[in-house]
Amino acid sequence: MVRKRVLDPKPIFDEEYMLEFLAQHDVKPVHAGKIWRHVMDNPDCPFDEIPGIPKKIRIPLRHEFVLSTSTISKVQVSEIDGTVKFLIRLQDGHEIESVIISHTGEFDPFGTERSERAGTRNTLCVSSQVGCRLKCTFCATGTMGLLGDLTGGEIMEQLMHARNQREVQNVVFMGMGEPLENMTGVVGALRGFTDTQRFGLAPRNVTVSTVGIIPNMRKLVERVPSVKLALSLHAPNQELREKLVPSAKNFRLPDLMQFVDEYAAKYANDGRRKGMVMISYVMIEGVNSSLDLARELAILLAGKPVIVNIIPFNDFEGSPDNFKEPKAEITDAFIEVLKAEGMWVFERRHHGRDIAAACGQLAKLEKGGGTVGQVIEVEEVHGGCGGVVKEKPKVNALARDIVKNRQTQVKKSLKKRVLDKFDNMTPTQKITVLGVGTLCGLGAVVLLFRRRSNYCI
Ligand code: SF4
Repeated sequence: MVRKRVLDPKPIFDEEYMLEFLAQHDVKPVHAGKIWRHVMDNPDCPFDEIPGIPKKIRIPLRHEFVLSTSTISKVQVSEIDGTVKFLIRLQDGHEIESVIISHTGEFDPFGTERSERAGTRNTLCVSSQVGCRLKCTFCATGTMGLLGDLTGGEIMEQLMHARNQREVQNVVFMGMGEPLENMTGVVGALRGFTDTQRFGLAPRNVTVSTVGIIPNMRKLVERVPSVKLALSLHAPNQELREKLVPSAKNFRLPDLMQFVDEYAAKYANDGRRKGMVMISYVMIEGVNSSLDLARELAILLAGKPVIVNIIPFNDFEGSPDNFKEPKAEITDAFIEVLKAEGMWVFERRHHGRDIAAACGQLAKLEKGGGTVGQVIEVEEVHGGCGGVVKEKPKVNALARDIVKNRQTQVKKSLKKRVLDKFDNMTPTQKITVLGVGTLCGLGAVVLLFRRRSNYCI
């Protein structure tokens, strides 16, 4: 059991710390929203000058909280595909990684990103723990053991740092750590990511990936029902799964499949998601890549609303000797079997291969010595943004970026909501809306002409 990490100063967007602070000062929780909204719009405003909050909390707020408790130590940009990897130093000196992956016209399994699907969209892969105790045999993070859980605020700071580099539309919890082993931090971050007073992401653009901690999957669905779920399966039978994912001993396949069925039944009518679960399958040549296993997987998942995501294994220093990345023809043949059984399946392309940013490779990589890809020191790219922000110029740089990104985000999310609403209407409602819209437009034109005529007279 690792000791709970305690931050001082605390991250301003962390719900747990903020509500505790307000309660200590006998102030209503509603002020949290006021503080967050103001800081999002005016991040360079000193906290003791936030308007509309009780006077008695102004000075303590400034002393106890900061805009960001973490700093970016290094940014690496892949020369192959532009993937960006951040090495982030936490307040206590631990380091974590997060990755921005760009997708261009790639298959969107949940069909939610209508506008972005044709163009480029960026997904931020966030870490939820420092290391991980579950020791999946194909995973570099698992070799570190667990050093600590991230707070909700620290998880949110990863998005704050990423937004200084790129516009980010999606967040996936597929970085370091098992998210459902850190329920407090992850649920706190999910609430912040999807809170319109904080990061304002659409819940369907946020995915939590788990190896299958069933009781916590149930809790997550209760607490934050609108985010998407991905289940890391990696094997179609219990015996093989236990070899790859040792924690599978406690959460058996029939129980996992029962959860998938319950989830599907509960969310069958939920817009485009329709109770779908993404099934991740890291493919290792000669271990879980045979066509017999593909058929077994198809039988296991038959009739379930799932999308299988095949991820070719990424080699890393210290990975088991017999683990190899599958040849393209092996992956293709596996996928063909699944497709022939009528399954939805896609292969996740390798991202950031030259900077070790691919799935299962995230760990404290500096220990290997030497880095590849384009390495940019933080100061070069964003004036040392983030961090325990005390120096004015750094805050201003961060402020400008946050405001700019938030405005873009709000515009996009408004556009998306209007399109989604229209999409969900019945044909009669659509005709009515279009008719009213046309009449309003005609009315406006007539008024304009009449006003012009008046001027002429
Ligand atoms: S795959 Fe996920 S759960 Fe397994 S060891 Fe790696 S980080 Fe932990």
